[in-house]
Parts: sequence; C-alpha cells; structure tokens
Amino acid sequence: VVNFDKVVKRYGELTVLDELDFSVKPGERVTLIGPSGSGKTTILRLLMTLEKVTDGVIWVEGEPLSHMRDSGGELVPANEAYLRQMRKRIGMVFQQFNLFPNMNVLRNITEAPVHVLGLSKDEAAVRARELLELVGLSDKENAHPSKLSGGQQQRVAIARALAMRPDILLLDEVTSALDPELVADVQNVLRDIASSTDITMLIVTHEMHFARDVSQRVLMFDKGKIIEEGTPERLFSEPREERTQKFLRAVL
Ligand code: ATP
Repeated sequence: VVNFDKVVKRYGELTVLDELDFSVKPGERVTLIGPSGSGKTTILRLLMTLEKVTDGVIWVEGEPLSHMRDSGGELVPANEAYLRQMRKRIGMVFQQFNLFPNMNVLRNITEAPVHVLGLSKDEAAVRARELLELVGLSDKENAHPSKLSGGQQQRVAIARALAMRPDILLLDEVTSALDPELVADVQNVLRDIASSTDITMLIVTHEMHFARDVSQRVLMFDKGKIIEEGTPERLFSEPREERTQKFLRAVL
C-alpha cells in the first residue's frame, strides 16, 4: 500500500529523512521505533500530507502521494485539490485526541463521512454505531468529548479515523497522553481491530509490548534511516545492531 522511494526530508540544514526506502504491504501492521528525533513522526506527517518531501516520491496504492501526474504522465508537485483527494485514504490518530469539542460522539464520527465522502447522515450513523460497538462505547454516542475520559476520547478518535475507511491507519503515540490505567483499554481496542480487520497500520510507539502484540514487522530508525528491521519477536529478543540494543535497553 505504501512505498517510500528515496525520500529525503530536510528542514534547512537538518536532514531528517535521508533517502529513505521502505514499503508496507496491504494489511500489514508495521511499528516504527527509534530514538527521539529519528524521524518517525515526520514519516507520518508526510503521509498525512501535512509536510512535503524535499526529494524522492511517496506512493500509496500505486499512486503518487507526494506528487501528482501532469497530462503527459510526468510526476509534478501535487496541488491542494489532489492532496485533498489523497488525504481521504489515510486515517490518523494523534497523541492528543483532537476531537471536535462542540459535537457529540456520534457527530464527531459522522462529520467527515458526510461532508467529505458524501454519505447520507443515516448511512454515516449506521457505520458510526458499528464502530462505537467495536471500540466499546455504544452507550456514549450522545456524550460530548469533555464528559469522557482520555481513554474513551481516544477510542472515539480511533472510530472516527476508521469511519473514513482509510487504506491505511496511522497511529502516533496514541497512548502516551493517557493516564496509565487507561492505556490498556485503548491498546486492547487496537489489538481487537488488528486481529479482526485487515486494515494496514503504521504505528509509532514507545511501548514495546504493544508493538509486539499488534505488529508483524518493526523498523528501527536512527538519524533518518532504517538501521534494522525484523519481526518483533526477533528484533526485541536478538537485536543485531548496537544502536538497537542500546535503544531497547533504555525503553524496555
Ligand atoms: P519523537 O519520538 O521525539 O517524536 P521522532 O523520531 O518522531 O521523535 P521527528 O518528530 O520526526 O522525530 O523529528 C525529527 C527531527 O526533525 C527532529 O530533530 C526535529 O527537531 C526536526 N523537526 C521536526 N519538525 C520540524 C520543523 N517543522 N522544523 C524544523 N525541524 C523540525
């Protein structure tokens, strides 16, 4: 589904991603790990089209995301209208839940399917209720976000992202703003989604147990490059690179 082809991202003099190549297969769940500043969030922000690549091309489902094709088929910088189209394919859940505070839970979930995908309100509500059941919040559809715990708000945010039926779901440190006792609820919901659907996931987390449970592959980043990758079982128990060993000692 996703393919990074020699992607470079620079901020001024600082090279954050350095000719990065990787791909994620349909239905695959991949966790990105690595020290702070190694470029993980930048990868998610590029996929959300919140940032632009400095060089290289990002592909989603065989179509360019960082660029668009002109009438002759050549890759050219993407314009806003094209980015808006491509953005629909990608769902993201943030560390801070970012729910719409003035809308109840159901409207939070139906808003984008109605206004962006053009679903009828009834269709969107049916889908939203299925998703609320999936995240264990069927009894909260009329509640406002401020009346919910952080864990519940995050579960609504997950339902909201899934309501757009994205090709890929991006999860950026989704439990790091939660009180410890609420982390497990959110992780359990994501584990259920991982085991009951075939949605592709790209996950940034510092919680290695969670990474082991949900992902099939882990990519270890350092200074904008992948320095090691493998199954979570292999990478966590027998890291080959010294920098991976050092990182895991610090977080495990
Ligand atoms: P963390 O785990 O702390 O979130 P990360 O691996 O996700 O780290 P990024 O957030 O991708 O790292 O940041 C990579 C580097 O890019 C950092 O050195 C950061 O300071 C820098 N950076 C990110 N955004 C900008 C920006 N808008 N302008 C300048 N530098 C930036």
